[in-house]
Amino acid sequence: MQDILQVVRAPDPELDDVVRRELLIQSGDAARFSNLLGFGLLGTVDAIMLLSQGQTTGLVVWSLLCLAWLLIFQFFVPALVTGPARALEVGHSPARIARRFALGQCVTGAAWGSGCVFLRPVEAAPELIAVPITALVLANAANLLFCAATPGAYRLFHASIVLTGGLGLALQQNWGLVALVVFGAGGAPPLARYGYQQVAGARLLARQNSLLVGELRQEREAVEQMNLRLAEANAELRHQATRDPLTGLPNRALFSDHLASTLARSRRAGRTLGVIYFDLDKFKAVNDTLGHGAGDDLLCQVGHRVTAVLRSSDVLARLGGDEFVVITAAGEALAERIRRVLEEPFGLAGRTVRISASLGLALDDGRLGTEELVEFADVALYRAKELGRNRVVVFGPALLDGAGRRASHRPETQSPIAPNVSHWSMSPLE
Ligand code: GH3
Ligand code: MG
Repeated sequence: MQDILQVVRAPDPELDDVVRRELLIQSGDAARFSNLLGFGLLGTVDAIMLLSQGQTTGLVVWSLLCLAWLLIFQFFVPALVTGPARALEVGHSPARIARRFALGQCVTGAAWGSGCVFLRPVEAAPELIAVPITALVLANAANLLFCAATPGAYRLFHASIVLTGGLGLALQQNWGLVALVVFGAGGAPPLARYGYQQVAGARLLARQNSLLVGELRQEREAVEQMNLRLAEANAELRHQATRDPLTGLPNRALFSDHLASTLARSRRAGRTLGVIYFDLDKFKAVNDTLGHGAGDDLLCQVGHRVTAVLRSSDVLARLGGDEFVVITAAGEALAERIRRVLEEPFGLAGRTVRISASLGLALDDGRLGTEELVEFADVALYRAKELGRNRVVVFGPALLDGAGRRASHRPETQSPIAPNVSHWSMSPLE
């Protein structure tokens, strides 16, 4: 209980809305049940009394007032707070119903008090008393529901409805009902405690809920963080699995995927496709003279330089060592361009270094598989090395001997435009 009180007293603006809502729900429930019982008893007594006195108009007005109060307390207030579905729910323990019964009498007294003003217009003075006291009841109820949910507020509320009801009934000299209202007022102190405990309980519940919500939020944030880290790790793994770690270019696996899809696409579109396989000439010498770091740097610079001369649809990959491969629709012209661009001097370890590359080009004839295309480009590259390096060889069947092995022949033709490009019969393979 001490804990509950501390929770109730502890100023916690975040909880206010939750508490107020919970309080409204409970107040709405209490009012609904108590009114139902209170009206049931007092309303019947009054109805019989009015009927026996032949006060038909009074009976009608009283019934309408009862109906209005019932609707307000039993439906509209709870419905405003909880929604119509909850407003129609019932189900409470007998002890609670008994306590609310007392409250019901008080509330009915208030209904009577306000009703008296209309039922029996008397001299100005009693009206002037009844009207402000009725206003006081309503103000108190509003204060209780929307602002100060404290034991004091509860007591004030009960006191004011007893006063209103008692005064209204006394004006009618209806001493029997006055006694009932006053008797009902006896329920006020326990009701005040009860209401206060309800608020305390509601606040404790709200506090627990907010702690729970906080914990859940933290857990959710932790899970989100973990998901983020997993997504990053996945992306990193995917990158590592498909990229060459030194140059960041696609590796052999990604290259193979690209080649398969690009080949299928270009065949569907009726376009030619070429694979350029190239290898740096005497790259070992760079490693040996300038160190492995400079060699790495050169491989990266080669990657950048070649990427710069490609079209956006071309793909450059590093297959390992100083071997690179390009998937392109440009063919021979691009191979020659790459050869030339790699002849340009490189800045390495504070020195200017000149290198060259040998390139083999294989063109798709519509029948080759991806592996054959790469293999033939490699055969052409091998021949370029044989012919003295720093050149482009375009693959043709003459490059293979009868058994399909790499053959050593002189080139069938020399390109008239580019002396470093040799052709080995481009007729389709059988
Ligand atoms: P060739 O003209 O016949 O191609 O001669 P080469 O010296 O270039 O020899 P080759 O292509 O057969 O060998 C490539 C060398 O590249 C072998 C290896 O020492 C070196 N190498 C392989 N991977 C790396 C790397 O990641 N970094 C560096 N710096 N060197 C590498
Ligand atoms: Mg090499």
